[in-house]
Amino acid sequence: MRVSALSTDLLFLVDDSGGLLTRRAIGAYLGLAIGDALGGTVEFLTPSEIRAAYRVHRDMVGGGWLRLRRGQVTDDTDMALALGRSILSAGRVDAEAAAAAFSDWMRRKPIDIGNTVRRGIAAYRRTGSPESPPCEYDAGNGACMRCLPVALATLGSSIAQVDAANRAQAHVTHNNPTSDAGTLCVLRMVQTALLGGDRAALAAIADELVAEDRMFDYSRKRSENPSGFIVDTLRTVFQSLFATDSFEAALVDCVNRGGDADTTGAITGMIAGALYGPAGIPPRWMRHLAQDVRHACIEQAQGLLKLSPLFAATGAQTQDLSVP
Ligand code: MN
Ligand code: MN
Repeated sequence: MRVSALSTDLLFLVDDSGGLLTRRAIGAYLGLAIGDALGGTVEFLTPSEIRAAYRVHRDMVGGGWLRLRRGQVTDDTDMALALGRSILSAGRVDAEAAAAAFSDWMRRKPIDIGNTVRRGIAAYRRTGSPESPPCEYDAGNGACMRCLPVALATLGSSIAQVDAANRAQAHVTHNNPTSDAGTLCVLRMVQTALLGGDRAALAAIADELVAEDRMFDYSRKRSENPSGFIVDTLRTVFQSLFATDSFEAALVDCVNRGGDADTTGAITGMIAGALYGPAGIPPRWMRHLAQDVRHACIEQAQGLLKLSPLFAATGAQTQDLSVP
């Protein structure tokens, strides 16, 4: 994959004047949680079922098959926060630390958990190995939905280093080249948005993925009722992101397509949150996010950025921002 020149073009942001980079990182983390909570309501519904129940689903109401409280997040956000904790305590992305954190999370009996995730964590407990064997059927979106902490902690690294760090966390449960390629694309889009890239810059990264693997082509048929397959998931995310020009519009477009809506919401939310910043997140959604989740997202966003090579190289400081 081509090494993007973007990070050097935008190095003026490294001093984080005005806390712009920090704010975008916080926007990405809150966006992930908001997208997860908004989409959870309509997970596994079809677009016509959503229309019948809500006309347009655009408010934090909870419910859904998981009987969520209003604003409650699911495994997508919980696993990202578990991964983030492991990176913060290990000081880097570490497969063993990530596997242990995922295992601790599963022990606390989460409200939902994917089959591939459960199998991977069970295998780690059995064998002690944090890398599941390669599997052609593991191209689910479970490694991608939790990848945001990697994007933050590796900001300023080469694409090869970002890829290696991501594989360490991803392969605990999902050891599959299609999942790896899709997740690396999302990581690059988040990092590019953090550094000030616009929608066209993000689309160029998505188009590189499509050029590598035509399965990801999102330009033709409208994606509806997407499955948990990474290809279906990302085609939905790309269509919603590139057809809209605000955080709110991207998320509403995305979750109303139904299917694995909490996860398409989470991934769209992390990219759109980095792109538009936390100010783009509607207060009527923000208000319902549980305070402990909101605080964890904000603290991790700042802590993970401080670990990143971009900050280490320049001795720059992230600005400690108050809770929005
Ligand atoms: Mn979920
Ligand atoms: Mn899901």
